[in-house]
Order: sequence, then C-alpha cells, then structure tokens
Amino acid sequence: MKKIAIAIDGPAAAGKSTVAKIVAHKMKYKYIDTGAMYRAVTFHLLDNDIDIYNEDEISTLLSNIQIQFKQEENGQHIFLNGKDITDDIRTDEVTNNVSTVSSHAAVRKEMVRRQQEFVEERGIVMDGRDIGTHVIPDAEVKFYLVASVDERAERRFIENEKRGYKTDINQIKKEIRERDLQDMQREVSPLVKADDAIEIDTTSYTIQQVADRMYDQINKVI
Ligand code: C5P
Repeated sequence: MKKIAIAIDGPAAAGKSTVAKIVAHKMKYKYIDTGAMYRAVTFHLLDNDIDIYNEDEISTLLSNIQIQFKQEENGQHIFLNGKDITDDIRTDEVTNNVSTVSSHAAVRKEMVRRQQEFVEERGIVMDGRDIGTHVIPDAEVKFYLVASVDERAERRFIENEKRGYKTDINQIKKEIRERDLQDMQREVSPLVKADDAIEIDTTSYTIQQVADRMYDQINKVI
C-alpha cells in the first residue's frame, strides 16, 4: 500500500490533534503535532524571561532550542533540550502567548524547516495551521477542520475538567476567538484553508465520525 502524507489544518481546538492521533495510529504512520513545537519555543522564552516580541533576540536563540518527540506508553511526549515538557506547554500562559511567538518570520522559518525534515519519508500525519499551504504543499490528502466557537470551547472546557483544571467557559471562548484572529491575520503564512483541502465541520460529529470521513478520503488515494 502506498505511503502518503496527510495534512490537517484548522483553527484552535477544532479536534485536529485528537483525530490526527487516531488516524496515525490506525495507519501506523508517524504523527507530528506542529502546534506543540511552537508551544515548546514559547515555553522556553517565557521560562527564560525573554521578550516574546523581540524577534531579533529570539532568532539568535532558536539554534539552542532542541525539540524531540518520543512515543511513550501513555502517548507522545515532547522534550525541550532533553527535558520532558509535555504538560508545561499546555498552561494558559503558553496558550495565550504562542500566537505572538508563532507570528515571527524567523520562528516560522526554522520550525517549517524542521517539520519538513520529518516529511522526507512519507507515512506521516501532521497537524497545524499551515501544513497544507506551506509545510507539505504536495501532501496527498489535506483536511481543514472547523467547528463553532461554542462547540470548541465546550470541548476544551471538558478536557480541562478531566485534567483537574477549573476554567470559565466564557474566558475560553474569548481566548479561542483571539487566537484564531491572531493566527488568521498574521503576515507570514496565516491560517487559511488550502485550495485543495477538504473541509470538515466537526461541530455535530463525533471524533470517530470525523475519522471515518477522513478514511473514506484517504482510501481513495492509497
Ligand atoms: O495546535 P495548537 O493549538 O497547539 O497550536 C498552538 C499555536 O501554535 C497556534 O495557535 C498557532 O499560533 C501556532 N501554530 C502555527 N502553525 C502551526 C501550528 C501551530 O502557527 N503549524
């Protein structure tokens, strides 16, 4: 069976990573969460009190930021310079600053370069904001997932509760709207649907139904 690259893009909390993991697992493909890479850079900057608006300074630091993914029993973990930061990159502080960090051209150039190294071998599912448009423009299958803000906030709220965080749903809605706007309006590779991507509105579907729709499409290609 032919091995392909599957690109999944879309706004914050649209279910991309959940469904990407399911598809990658079923197809025995590698999964790369590119949002986690931008979050890792953001965590590093905040942790070292570096001004997240200072692109010049940040660009000199990028070569010192090593990011690795490792598959462990309870899922994929992300390491920054050898330290497991899987939970650290999900804090509100990182979430609320990541779109500023990811808007810098120097940061994007370096992350895209690293992401493209993963794609040298096919058999990969990658999710993010610019995968179908910039990282893997020749991906065999591209999806663009969307969902209403209410639905996305509700999912994030439930996810937070499961992790033991108490959050305010209206605050989550506000943050999702702000992050979408920032990601869609940035100058360098903004979030936009690739012309050849298949759009799936996940609002009224279960994750399994979304995955099934994706398999239908994937099976036409492999
Ligand atoms: O996917 P996730 O919500 O974890 O992504 C965090 C942030 O990283 C996004 O809001 C966006 O600013 C940035 N990002 C990006 N390009 C990608 C993936 C994520 O700019 N390919």
